[in-house]
Amino acid sequence: MLLRYVERGSRILGAAAALTAVLAGTAHAAPTDQRAALGSAAGTEGLDPSLAMAYTLAEREAHAQGVPLSITSGYRTPEQQRWLWEDGIRTHGSPDEARRWVLPPEESTHVSGRAVDVGPQGGAQWLEANGSRWGLCRMYGNEWWHFELATLPGAACPPVRPDAHDR
Ligand SMILES: [Zn+2]
Repeated sequence: MLLRYVERGSRILGAAAALTAVLAGTAHAAPTDQRAALGSAAGTEGLDPSLAMAYTLAEREAHAQGVPLSITSGYRTPEQQRWLWEDGIRTHGSPDEARRWVLPPEESTHVSGRAVDVGPQGGAQWLEANGSRWGLCRMYGNEWWHFELATLPGAACPPVRPDAHDR
């Protein structure tokens, strides 16, 4: 009798453990919950999750060292980028010259969620010096604020290109 009781008890415990595992493993929402638990940096909404995570970790480290750093522009909708592109053409006089500073929506890494602009300049300099720990790299000589995931964490960044013109 006692044995039967123990057997049934262990079956119930086993079922409970299985249920717990199922609940823990469910939810495609799990990654979102983990990001929330980590506390994604402000301005990372809409970014590629890898970039959002890498930037969040970098910003935390910057702040831990007393360095001010934040996103000034991350994900942009195609409409927002179209406005910037047309404004850039007006400002710089031609698409060819504008391309050094702004790209059309179909080419912009901001629209694909793969770029962040950061500030202030001191924070950007810190990120240029330290960002490769998380795979973050400055991309253009004429844009100290623009960073992308461009290397494996801990590896060297590719050479900085003069500007975005030849993308
Ligand atoms: Zn940018």
